[in-house]
Amino acid sequence: MSIRRSSSLLAASLALAAASTIASAQPKNVIFMIGDGMGPTQIEAAGMFAGAPMSFESAPYQGMVTTFAANSSVTDSAASGTAMATGVKVNNGVISLALPGNGSELTTLLEHYQSLNRSTGLVATSYLTHATPASFGAHETSRNNTNQIAGDFLNQTKPNVLLGGGAHGLSISSAQAAGYTTVTDAASMLALNTSAETFVSGQFGTGHLPYETDGLGSLPHLNQMATTALDILDNDPDGFFLMVEGARIDHAGHANNIVRNIGETIEFSNTVQAVLDWASGRDDTLVIVTADHETGGLSILNDNGPGNIPTVSWSTSGHTGVDVPVYAWGAQANHITANMDNTDFFDLITINNIAGDLNGDGFVGISDLNVVLSNWNQTAPAANPQADPTGDGFIGIADLNQILGNWNSGSPPITANIPEPASAIVFLFTSLAVFRRRPALS
Ligand SMILES: [Zn+2]
Repeated sequence: MSIRRSSSLLAASLALAAASTIASAQPKNVIFMIGDGMGPTQIEAAGMFAGAPMSFESAPYQGMVTTFAANSSVTDSAASGTAMATGVKVNNGVISLALPGNGSELTTLLEHYQSLNRSTGLVATSYLTHATPASFGAHETSRNNTNQIAGDFLNQTKPNVLLGGGAHGLSISSAQAAGYTTVTDAASMLALNTSAETFVSGQFGTGHLPYETDGLGSLPHLNQMATTALDILDNDPDGFFLMVEGARIDHAGHANNIVRNIGETIEFSNTVQAVLDWASGRDDTLVIVTADHETGGLSILNDNGPGNIPTVSWSTSGHTGVDVPVYAWGAQANHITANMDNTDFFDLITINNIAGDLNGDGFVGISDLNVVLSNWNQTAPAANPQADPTGDGFIGIADLNQILGNWNSGSPPITANIPEPASAIVFLFTSLAVFRRRPALS
């Protein structure tokens, strides 16, 4: 790309720039979706049966995630849930406490968003006090302390929305005493006046929800719970954090049951699609889809075609240390990298909170501009994914606007006086000229 060409592109884009909204790099809404036990092969097997990729496989940002626990190369859902929720490795079985360490409570993503005065929610197909939702909304030495986990939910972290399997510490009376509207089946959940509800506890049955392939009866599907949660949480003008877990992919993996495993993965995919439909057209929402670990050591022996269960083998009835995939869309999705650890999510969602600060140095300036211009007109993340702060998969005017609209924001980084490359200086003059000529943006 020549300088001349970039300059004319910038000039030609002024009208567009004036008309478009400047996106915030700090996602207003975060929807964090976890397929429990959903390794790469589980996704592949479900796609073979469905005859099409899972909904999330076309995400603009993708990578692989290591999952080990502090005390084991193979994690459980408590340690991996805690790592994702807090950015800290803990021992297997621990729910968001510094163990190893001083045992202090680790701030979770849910609590971080509460501190920003935003609404929060937890949705799962397991009973709701199970390890993964507990990691986001409780602090306990053991995942088995389900009574205490329920107490943490209702009396300490108080997510606005709690939808999942019932009992195991939760009860209708305790939720109502804590101020929640309660529902117990799909019909009563779907009949909620979601625009008027602020605290809802859905307790569906007395354990995990049934497997999709066994039929849900009167109980809700994961996609129905997720969309109900969104309908409640999006009343908050400040935004929200929502965790959604397809919990029973893991249980079918433990049982080495490929039919149920595929059914759960497909419903999880349907749920992701429902979330993406909700988020469609928004530039203020981050959607992350990942897994906490793989379960079963699944291998595919033969693809038997659409509508047929593939022939598979399993190496274990437990978890494995296989890396799991991550998929992301929207605001700050560009922070997803090809090779991540499960402790990286907390920082990439929370730390870089200055719109336009693409390189994360706390200041919006020439170095951020260069990230975009040097990847101009390219499809992310084939180019530099950082250059696409809008997360729309393309590096262009919208990304440039985010920088120019926030020019000079933040604190200039403390650096040595290294002369800027000549090209950067030319870009600077170009950008300043554009900046002065866009009063309509102010
Ligand atoms: Zn498991």
